[in-house]
Amino acid sequence: MPEGDTVWQAARRLHDALAGKALIRSDFRVPRYATVDLTGRTVLGTTPRGKHLLTRFEGGLTLHTHLRMEGAWKVYGSDERWRGGPAHQIRAILGTADRTAVGYRLQVLEFLRTGEEERAVGHLGPDLLGPDWNSDRALANLLADPARPLGEALLDQRNLAGIGNIYKSELCFLIGATPWLPVGALPADRAAQLPGLAKRLLEANRDRPVRRTTGLRNQDLFVYGRAPRPCLRCHTPIRVADQGDGSRERPTYWCPACQTGPGPAPPPSRRTRTTN
Ligand SMILES: [Zn+2]
Repeated sequence: MPEGDTVWQAARRLHDALAGKALIRSDFRVPRYATVDLTGRTVLGTTPRGKHLLTRFEGGLTLHTHLRMEGAWKVYGSDERWRGGPAHQIRAILGTADRTAVGYRLQVLEFLRTGEEERAVGHLGPDLLGPDWNSDRALANLLADPARPLGEALLDQRNLAGIGNIYKSELCFLIGATPWLPVGALPADRAAQLPGLAKRLLEANRDRPVRRTTGLRNQDLFVYGRAPRPCLRCHTPIRVADQGDGSRERPTYWCPACQTGPGPAPPPSRRTRTTN
C-alpha cells in the first residue's frame, strides 16, 4: 500500500507535468468513462489528500484516483517509451504537447464536480502532508476507540490520513509499543507524541527516493521488512505477523523486546473451538 509520501510525490509529478497546460489527448480505459474526452481542457493542477489524488480541470471537473496497492502514475516525455507496465494495465492517459501522464492499475478512477470533492475525501482525518493538518484532532481520533489495536488505529485514514503499512510498523517501533497494544493502554505522554512523529517521518521522506526512518547510514528502516534479522537497537530477532480486520491482513513487523504490549492473536485455526 502506498504511503502518503508516495502519493504526495505522484501528485507533484502530475502537477509539474500538466498544470496550466491544455490536454491534446485524454483516454480513460474504464467502461464508465470510456467516452469521456477532455481534449482542449486546461489542467488546473493535482493535489494529494491523504492517499487520494485530485486532478482538477477547467470547467469544475475533478478526476479522483487512488493508487491502492498496485497503482502508479507515470509521466513521460513525447518520445519516451512507456515502461509502467503492459498496455492492458493502463487506466488513464492525460497528454499535453510535451508530457504524457499514464495511470497504471488505478483501482479508483472517477470523475466528480470539483465542488463535490468532499464526497470522495470528506471522510479523511487530518492530512499529515496537507494544509488541514491538526495534531490535536488526529490524536483525539486515534484515542477515540481505546480498545482498538494501535496498528489498526494508525492505518485508519479516518483518524489521520497518510500512514500506510510501512510507517505503521515503524511508528509502533519508535513509540515503543507493539501494533496490538490497545491505544487506550499507551501512556498519555507517548500517545501525545504519535501525530507529530508521524508528520515528521512523512515530511522527511516527501522528497526522498528511498524511504528512511532510522537516521542511520546503512539501514533505512528499523523493523519493516527486516524479520528475522536482529533489531538495530537490541539485536533481538525482528518478528512478522499479519494484522488486520480479517478482510485486509497486512504483514506487520515488530521487535518483541523494544516494544511493549501483546503480540498477535493466534490464527483462528489454532483457537480453541467449542462444539455442540
Ligand atoms: Zn529491539
